[in-house]
Amino acid sequence: MASNAKNSEAFMKHVMEAAAGMSSELGQRMQSDPEGWRNQVLGMMEHMKGTGAVAYPGGPTLSQGFEDMISAQAISDEMVQKALKDGFMQALTGALRNPDRWSYGDGEQTPVRRKEAMVVQHVWGRGGDYSLDNPALSDWARDCHLGEFAKVKAHLDNEPKLLDRRETLLRLNGLFHVIYGMRTVDSKDSRMASMKVEKKEGRDHLACAKFLIERGTPVDCRDMAGHTPFHHCTGMFGTKLTLKLADYLLDKGADINARNRNGDTPLMVALSGNNELCVDFLLERDPETNVTNYDGNSLVQSALNFPDLQRKMWAYASKKSELERSKAKATGKYRTCAVCSKSNGLKRCTGCFLVWYCGSKCQKDDWKGHKANCKATQAEYVPVVLRQHGHSQIYNWTANSEVTVTPKSEQKISGKHHFIVKVGIAHVNADEGGLTLYNKEKTVYGQLAPKDDVYLELVRAVKKDGVMGVKGFFYAIWEDGKGLRVNAKRIQPPESW
Ligand SMILES: [Zn+2]
Ligand SMILES: [Zn+2]
Repeated sequence: MASNAKNSEAFMKHVMEAAAGMSSELGQRMQSDPEGWRNQVLGMMEHMKGTGAVAYPGGPTLSQGFEDMISAQAISDEMVQKALKDGFMQALTGALRNPDRWSYGDGEQTPVRRKEAMVVQHVWGRGGDYSLDNPALSDWARDCHLGEFAKVKAHLDNEPKLLDRRETLLRLNGLFHVIYGMRTVDSKDSRMASMKVEKKEGRDHLACAKFLIERGTPVDCRDMAGHTPFHHCTGMFGTKLTLKLADYLLDKGADINARNRNGDTPLMVALSGNNELCVDFLLERDPETNVTNYDGNSLVQSALNFPDLQRKMWAYASKKSELERSKAKATGKYRTCAVCSKSNGLKRCTGCFLVWYCGSKCQKDDWKGHKANCKATQAEYVPVVLRQHGHSQIYNWTANSEVTVTPKSEQKISGKHHFIVKVGIAHVNADEGGLTLYNKEKTVYGQLAPKDDVYLELVRAVKKDGVMGVKGFFYAIWEDGKGLRVNAKRIQPPESW
């Protein structure tokens, strides 16, 4: 198929361009040997063709994933070309001078996933048809971009409708134009060099942004990809200057956890853009870290190509977990006697295993009150079947080693034991496959099958109350003849392992 060959070319072009934009180890390797990488990727695609190979159990085939990527690329290119052409015609015919023909408001904001998300991401990530050279761009947009305070004010006094006018495929209003210009002013990013807005008398981006918000631009307005001004200030191209505006936006009520149309929070966008300055800025302001986007990506997966940022996120998560443990302790929910709050010499209740006592006296005193609760909790332990198969090579290539488990020994446990188990989401689309479960000693380890009811319950609990949406701790009982049972209903405070 000729179109397939053409698509492969387009895909390769995209891969190489993406690599050029990466400062990660992977990006450097790809840049230092583009031909080698090209052959490797092409070989991989060829190999996958028709094999039905999947990236993870139950997921779409790899070749389908590639096809989606290629076709999303083509669709987005076409959208940009059409927008450029339409804009040019409108500029020629003077249609853009008529406020009745302008676009207003945030427009289409439905959530997007997978291929649809890729299309939006391609258009947005490469700037769509946004350029100061685009003849369809208004003088208003240009002056906002340049930070020309007096001119911006004069435009708006003359035509108040400009405040919410949206331009280009990216659907940018005045505030977004300001930020697009602002981020070039003090940028150290080489990709911004050719777009740099020179500092000049009368130019003041920060003043322009504040002015537009005071005039009524909503702090959490959205562009075509669902990004808020805050996303833009703290994203891939965020700078010291845009972070000043970010703090102002927070003061005005901006949502630090706002989701774009693919469910990405500002922190996810900063991580996937490898912008450490912005990541640090966000982490200091206590963003939500137990989040996944609409494709199931967690924060760690957002930083997939940037090991330093991944390490930073894990370090941040363990600091947070420590805090959670001490909070749970203070409220008697973690290793303190349920009666007298002592914290040494503790034993778990041998019925439910989730309540502690310092000795038989306290336990006896509490039994009347605890009995019903204990029975109910005991009934929450349900059997799980563990399988032992590895992940595919493709998966390991990108996976965080955090969820790769090697059993300590082949020894099987016997008798009756109870212990904490860690449940890790091994793949982004956890609803479809990839949960790993093991205890600290790794005498119990394996993968869970998605068809079990408890599987989805565990996934939901980890995503909602686990550590960064990828791992969570639960209590489990092993009994000969009965196998392993887990209480998925009560996620435990995070452990340090
Ligand atoms: Zn006690
Ligand atoms: Zn109990």
